[in-house]
Amino acid sequence: MRKGKNKESSRVKSKKFEFFYCLFLFINHPVQILQGPVRHLFYLAAGGRLCPAGFIMKRILISGLFSLLLTGIAYGRQTTGGNGFNADSAYAFTARQVAFGPRVPNSPAQLACAAWLGQKLAQYCDTVYRQQVTVTAGDGATSLRCINLVGVINPAATRRILLLAHWDSRPWADRDRKKKKQAIDGADDGASGTAVLLELARVLQNSAPGRGTVGVDILLADVEDYGKDEWQDASYALGTQYWCHNPHVAGYTAEAGILLDMVGGSKARFPMEGFSRQYASPVVDAVWQAAAAAGHSAYFPTEKEGYITDDHVPVNTIRHIPTIDMIHLPRHSETGFPEHWHTHRDNMSVIDKHTLQAVGETLLYYLRHL
Ligand SMILES: [Zn+2]
Repeated sequence: MRKGKNKESSRVKSKKFEFFYCLFLFINHPVQILQGPVRHLFYLAAGGRLCPAGFIMKRILISGLFSLLLTGIAYGRQTTGGNGFNADSAYAFTARQVAFGPRVPNSPAQLACAAWLGQKLAQYCDTVYRQQVTVTAGDGATSLRCINLVGVINPAATRRILLLAHWDSRPWADRDRKKKKQAIDGADDGASGTAVLLELARVLQNSAPGRGTVGVDILLADVEDYGKDEWQDASYALGTQYWCHNPHVAGYTAEAGILLDMVGGSKARFPMEGFSRQYASPVVDAVWQAAAAAGHSAYFPTEKEGYITDDHVPVNTIRHIPTIDMIHLPRHSETGFPEHWHTHRDNMSVIDKHTLQAVGETLLYYLRHL
């Protein structure tokens, strides 16, 4: 993916929300501890009688413990949640993809990884569709083998949600200082989103959301990252563009779509991306509310961001499914993306299980409250 043209001008400043939120978390504990005695002082000033010391101590203890619990939840220290999403499993799915080597179009690694992905989807989904076609790169000449996979969960349900991620890795490390022409591992950019979707499929296989009234379609799209800045924006997301014109089921549609891209980095920040707000504002609101309810607001600040050219754009503009992009956009970054973006540093060392867990739990909460 790449930054859209309006990035700087459209970027809305944070309004210091995150700073005050962190400050709140930092001071929350002592404030909770103090609030018991402070309340009692007000009570006394209002003419009340002093409560027994034991009662005050109990209040201090309870509020302190409550505060610690809240703080722990906010930072998401746990790696396995009660709802079944397992970050260890998602991490292993990421590592498995990376172990194939860069999943570059026309490479043996592409074929091997596609076979493995198809196998995993078949294990967890009711139906699997495989599209293997040839697309033309942005240079207008290079033929690229493109393999899209779609896993369908609960095909009978009429309410449908589309979840997607690209699984190919970038053939160049054009943002690196060394070995610019070599393909990258793409642990975060490609493998992480795909891994979270596989783990979600594993969790959902026995518990379709919405008490069985909602079906989920998982699109693992190929050839997203073969684009170049000197080519047009349409040189990106070639697999998804093909799927949009030729969906796995004729006339396919869904009430909402969620794209995952770079969802494995440490302390990731998922702000509200521009095209997501433009085309799918209600989906943005629902997903960010789900993140808050699942205790992951620290990863999902309610801050507006610029426009990213990514797989969700054709899904919105060609398929007309309101689709958002959940993508790591750090606040202080020269490129707008994480420091490892399109470099050889995008390897397993940047993958953090806490982030995978936060994303997985947010999606599960969203799906289970539709
Ligand atoms: Zn990329």
